[in-house]
Amino acid sequence: MAVRPVSKHPDTVLRQKAKKVPVIDKSVKTLIDDMIETMFANNGCGLAAPQVGVSLRCIVIGMPEEEPFAIVNPEIVKRVGDRDVEEACLSVPGLAGEVKRSVSVIVKGLDRYGKPFRVKGRELLGQALEHEIDHLNGVLFIDRVESLDKLHKKEQPVSGATETV
Ligand code: ZN
Repeated sequence: MAVRPVSKHPDTVLRQKAKKVPVIDKSVKTLIDDMIETMFANNGCGLAAPQVGVSLRCIVIGMPEEEPFAIVNPEIVKRVGDRDVEEACLSVPGLAGEVKRSVSVIVKGLDRYGKPFRVKGRELLGQALEHEIDHLNGVLFIDRVESLDKLHKKEQPVSGATETV
């Protein structure tokens, strides 16, 4: 396992539509392990493969006090509700802003062994799933803020903790 460098906006890899993972081979398993290590090294709670320069549809999620897990070829199959949340991103260092996210989502995909599974995410988990799947489509949270002047420095005190995903 290794910590990989995190791609930063405006790196073009962050703007590409990532390709489906055709087969979960050894290199994809290594990618997953490295992404989990990179996420934790940067205190993130989610990471998408384009953020480590790999344009493949693979994300990892690391919620506080839960086992981290990967979803290969994730797809949102259901979204419920709307809410405004503070968001930040390891690929857009130093900035945070308010975006609209769902109250809960259901995502399907494959685990690291290629087994299909579904995960239901509410609140922070739902937000992280939507944020990471956005990365696979070349979308950053700064595209989702109402206007760029709603972005602010992450150091500023905000209501509640800003999770970096
Ligand atoms: Zn991000």
